[in-house]
Amino acid sequence: MIVTRMVLATFSISLISSVLLNLSMVPQKMDMNRDKSNRFQNPGLKQGNQFLGLLKWQFSRIGKVPSFSSAQNVFPIAEPDWRKINSKPDELVITWVGHSTLLVQIEGLAILTDPIFSERCSPSQLFGPKRFTPVPFPLSALPAIDAVVISHDHYDHLDETTVKALGNDPVWFVPKGVKPWFIKKGITNVIEMDWWQEYQLGRVTIVCTPSQHFSGRSPFNRNKTLWSSWAIIGTKQRFWFAGDTGYSPLFSEVGIKYGPFDLAAIPIGSYGPEWFMLPIHVNPAQAVLVHKDLQARQSVGIHYGTFILSDEPVTEPVTLLKKELEKNGIREDEFFTLQHGETRIIEK
Ligand code: ZN
Ligand code: ZN
Repeated sequence: MIVTRMVLATFSISLISSVLLNLSMVPQKMDMNRDKSNRFQNPGLKQGNQFLGLLKWQFSRIGKVPSFSSAQNVFPIAEPDWRKINSKPDELVITWVGHSTLLVQIEGLAILTDPIFSERCSPSQLFGPKRFTPVPFPLSALPAIDAVVISHDHYDHLDETTVKALGNDPVWFVPKGVKPWFIKKGITNVIEMDWWQEYQLGRVTIVCTPSQHFSGRSPFNRNKTLWSSWAIIGTKQRFWFAGDTGYSPLFSEVGIKYGPFDLAAIPIGSYGPEWFMLPIHVNPAQAVLVHKDLQARQSVGIHYGTFILSDEPVTEPVTLLKKELEKNGIREDEFFTLQHGETRIIEK
């Protein structure tokens, strides 16, 4: 009896903390760009209140989330091409750190996307989703970073420890409403942008492009800041970073305006369960649609295999992506995945 009570108490505590953690991740009803309470919305997307859906999902996944120890060696770690990285390459060179973190080098610049090097993506390093695959190298191994693009303020994309470690040296590009968070942390080298705004950084144009998602770091600031994707347009090559996104017709517009892209970084994970996740994340089939809409010559799959934030089996995104490519008659090297830490040179 006592054991049963203890099990029930542990179950309740873990359920409540899980719900609180995920409460900031509940997408709300959205119609126009901002609603009456000044919260950002996805244009043209209608979603019901998903709080009950969140509860249903949390109950359904208890006991199903793989533990860190069961994850060893699922995803091998690669050694980055440090010689290439440290040569300040002129051509487009990418290195995948894991999740949505990429080192993007283009025309002599080193740019990071949504950098997270921490052990957990959470308000605290004591609880919350722990890294499934270790970080392939420490932040200190990186070359001098010229700029960072941030897609939105969720913990797996905006990590306080990593932001503070990078400090004021890089220029931080953030979507509307995110700058005050940086100022509070003492980071002032921040350019805040709305969708479709452009900024010239040396020979490269940084464009804040749309995505279909939501924002918030607590249940109290949901959708108070904007979410975005980013285009990095060089004089010779073009790169696009999706951030977090559901499938949206806006990507065709991005493709027409700024494509064709030499490389697009597109999420392929965090789509399970689809009834709950698809308005805010793409599955591999939709990732292939995004690749086509953008007129991308090549794409790289991101947002999988690093933190477990959803229900699909950890290796499924890569398997499903290969099936989708075959179905669409697309070569595997046209939409590829990398090992954590792997570097790839993107030929013009
Ligand atoms: Zn997110
Ligand atoms: Zn995410």
